[in-house]
Amino acid sequence: MTAQILDGKATALELKNTIKKQVEQRLEKGLNRPGLAVILVGSNAASQVYVNSKRKSCEEVGFLSKAYDLPITVSQSELLDLVDQLNNDPEIHGILVQLPLPNHISADTVIERISPYKDVDGFHPYNVGRLALKMPLLRSCTPKGIMTLLAKTNIALAGLDAVIIGQSNIVGRPMALELLAERCTITVCHSKTKNLADKAKQADILVVAIGKAEYVSGDWIKEGAIVIDVGMNRLENGKLVGDVNFAEAAQKAAWITPVPGGVGPMTVATLLENTLLAAQLSAR
Ligand code: NAP
Repeated sequence: MTAQILDGKATALELKNTIKKQVEQRLEKGLNRPGLAVILVGSNAASQVYVNSKRKSCEEVGFLSKAYDLPITVSQSELLDLVDQLNNDPEIHGILVQLPLPNHISADTVIERISPYKDVDGFHPYNVGRLALKMPLLRSCTPKGIMTLLAKTNIALAGLDAVIIGQSNIVGRPMALELLAERCTITVCHSKTKNLADKAKQADILVVAIGKAEYVSGDWIKEGAIVIDVGMNRLENGKLVGDVNFAEAAQKAAWITPVPGGVGPMTVATLLENTLLAAQLSAR
């Protein structure tokens, strides 16, 4: 079998075009632009690339984008003060604090300080809890974007065996909740999982988010599986690769996401989708 490509770039573009039209309709009705505040602490090169892409995407769809670039020496209380100020800013519907933060700042404390209704990353315990209770509001962007991509396969998800490798708060755990809500049968694996390859081979849907270049080889893939590669790893030669060996896995899978051009663009487009939703919620 040669897999069909789940094209995140094209799907993200479709989503952005829909959002752009909805922004235009808001403005015609006299409503304000959805506003996203993106806070970057320090000058981590990868974070700067992500933040720039988020800010550029905001402008493409007609959002108000406010940039806060803070020095690495900013204190936790100064950062919390800025979050408080943005929580109370009626022009701002979404607040994003780019992770990782420097060691002297607790990411958990900062995330919890963001109003759950402006938590467009979907990381606040309130929003993760709502997802766990099948009452989703603002859903974590990467897993939600993956659900949008899965819908593109037109495959009924209920009853499928889903294996997720990685149990981080931002990908693996909310991914498990998303797929459980669709009544997949879930196995979540991590660095202490025994017989990982055997578990992966059971998967109708395999989601890999571990941050290890091409770790998952073709013989881990069940014939006809859907393979979602979340990993983004830069090789020494500059090439960007996922956590899955794409060439091998594509020989076994029915559907596969490429890296780049798979999950990454969907994460950014879903952030915009969440910001629009937050703006709609704020009007109610
Ligand atoms: P993370 O917080 O570092 O978590 C990694 C997870 O993988 C942990 O649960 C860890 O297990 C598990 N793990 C590590 N090595 C493993 C192994 N050999 N076998 C099985 N499990 C293993 O990472 P993350 O933030 O979820 O990100 C994962 C990857 O996705 C990274 O490459 C990141 O850049 C990428 N990412 C991409 C997007 C996107 O939009 N495309 C978004 C977010 C992240 P333990 O819990 O036992 O330590």
